[in-house]
Amino acid sequence: MNLSNAREAEPASGRIQRSNSLVEDVYEAIFAQLMSLKIAPGSRITVDSLVKELDVSHTPIREALGRLEGEGLVLKTHLIGYRAAPQITKRRFDELYELRLLLEPHGAAKAAALMDETKLAVLKESAGGMARREGKDERLRYSNFARQDAIFHDRIMEFANNDLVRQTLAFQHTHFHIFRLMFHSRVTEEALDEHEAILAAFAASDPVAAEQAMRRHIEHSRDRLLLAFD
Ligand SMILES: [Zn+2]
Repeated sequence: MNLSNAREAEPASGRIQRSNSLVEDVYEAIFAQLMSLKIAPGSRITVDSLVKELDVSHTPIREALGRLEGEGLVLKTHLIGYRAAPQITKRRFDELYELRLLLEPHGAAKAAALMDETKLAVLKESAGGMARREGKDERLRYSNFARQDAIFHDRIMEFANNDLVRQTLAFQHTHFHIFRLMFHSRVTEEALDEHEAILAAFAASDPVAAEQAMRRHIEHSRDRLLLAFD
């Protein structure tokens, strides 16, 4: 155990290299595997195999798994251990999209009515992060897109100025669950255009257009991902 702790401090060894943000790196590595289905929904996650694969000690892996448990992506069972959260059911999928359609178009309209240059810059920044195609690792890009999409939608709800609605949506970890339904570039490519339409409505401070653009985005997202249940 001391040996593996010592190994963490060596910068050149293994795939995880920066010891100052080791837990963060381990978290990102496991998150990317969960989002891209390299770790299949419902499958067992053994700490020992992650220790070997990522070349780090047990401690940062347990910390990262604890954080993923808090995000609903990992389940821990006493005496049995960790497993990836199962895929959401069709019923839960329908419920999530019904909830989103009830709350997010209205939130977008409110955010548009309250829009200013500072808020618009924040939203453009988070939308821009999705468009950038950094790195060669498609799995990592996909998981980054899922994270950025969650942030983009959360920011809009923040600017809509209703903490209860914002928390209700955030608590579902919707984006992490829906992006696990399908690992496909179409899921991300088409969403970018829809985000542009939402941003254009915010830039014009147009609540009606923002409401419509958000509704269209969520409906299209639902229809794209429905294919996963065929
Ligand atoms: Zn989106």
